[in-house]
Amino acid sequence: MTETTTTVTTTIPGDGPLVLGIESSCDETGVGIVRGNTLLANAVASSVDEHARFGGVVPEIASRAHLEEMVPTLERALAEADVDLTQLDAVAVTAGPGLMGALAVGVAAAKALSSAIGKPLYGVNHLVGHVAVDLLEHGPLPEPSLALLVSGGHTNILRVDNVTAVSEIGTTIDDAAGEAYDKVARLLGLPYPGGPVIDAAARRGDRDAIRFPRGLTGERDRERHRFDFSFSGLKTAVSRWVELRRRDGEEVSVDDVAASFQEAVCDVLTAKTVDACRTLGVGSLLLGGGVAANSRLRELLEERCLAAGVELRRPRPALCTDNGAMIAVVGSELIRHGAAPSGIAFGADPGLPVGVVSLPAQE
Ligand code: ADP
Ligand code: MG
Repeated sequence: MTETTTTVTTTIPGDGPLVLGIESSCDETGVGIVRGNTLLANAVASSVDEHARFGGVVPEIASRAHLEEMVPTLERALAEADVDLTQLDAVAVTAGPGLMGALAVGVAAAKALSSAIGKPLYGVNHLVGHVAVDLLEHGPLPEPSLALLVSGGHTNILRVDNVTAVSEIGTTIDDAAGEAYDKVARLLGLPYPGGPVIDAAARRGDRDAIRFPRGLTGERDRERHRFDFSFSGLKTAVSRWVELRRRDGEEVSVDDVAASFQEAVCDVLTAKTVDACRTLGVGSLLLGGGVAANSRLRELLEERCLAAGVELRRPRPALCTDNGAMIAVVGSELIRHGAAPSGIAFGADPGLPVGVVSLPAQE
């Protein structure tokens, strides 16, 4: 278990509601506390190490880790923010999308907490959390903005009219970008998670060594899938390329393969996203998700945004990966926009569409 806690300030400013957010959609147990748009605590316990030998997240292991870590993570967050449960104005929790068993742990914890302290509960969308978290770092988002979210589970271009009004412009039709990194690392014999290792190998390699395919960029795809992504063909192309060389007894430069694969991913992510900004006439772009830590993605996106006159915002890496503060800030924004709480009758929804920012109260 890897534990981290980030505290930005220990004095609680008087602005906005005091909201506690719980995240458990994948392999991070996160509890964050915000006052309005001010981050007070962000405690995260990641089970990533426990999944390493399986080469990917194992849902049962993730769920068990959430059960074990929920209360200690909650206690760490409260201590870091120096607040008492009774001071909270509301609780927010990731209701979806994510792994069912993992989500269920966070939702059950949040319902218990909300009932115990008699404060409203908001069941919120994980993807919107990745967008809203930037408010903690850079203040209000220009409206509208686009967001590129890239992680192990998601790859989306979103239009954000405000944090409570989000719609999907494009998504992956198969693997997520981070998933492609993890799968390619595995076939190259590199450890999990593959993103950071491929990123490091790529810096030593030649990104022009091999021209791997760019998914959904052909003429015909531009009509139906202009802003969508596909990474499974790329993964197969890398696998075939490596297999053929190895079969012929040729030496394979892992660094060159990593650099060329990474270039194909980052080229297509950045080209389509900047095209979406231009086409929709939106001058502000937010980058989020675990893959936002990628050095080449950041470099190429900065370059292309600059050329297109698009302002690029990127929260610091600790806020880009899954955490509870991003869920807390969605809660605080929902309260600011007068949204009704979700009650405690809702269930986790693994396939929650991005357009549903918070669940409506049920009878
Ligand atoms: P999730 O929990 O939905 O998988 P996270 O936001 O926790 O998503 O991000 C984890 C993903 O990010 C993994 O797939 C990992 O390989 C990828 N990742 C992390 N750092 C990098 C990097 N430097 N380059 C590319 N991918 C990265
Ligand atoms: Mg994760």
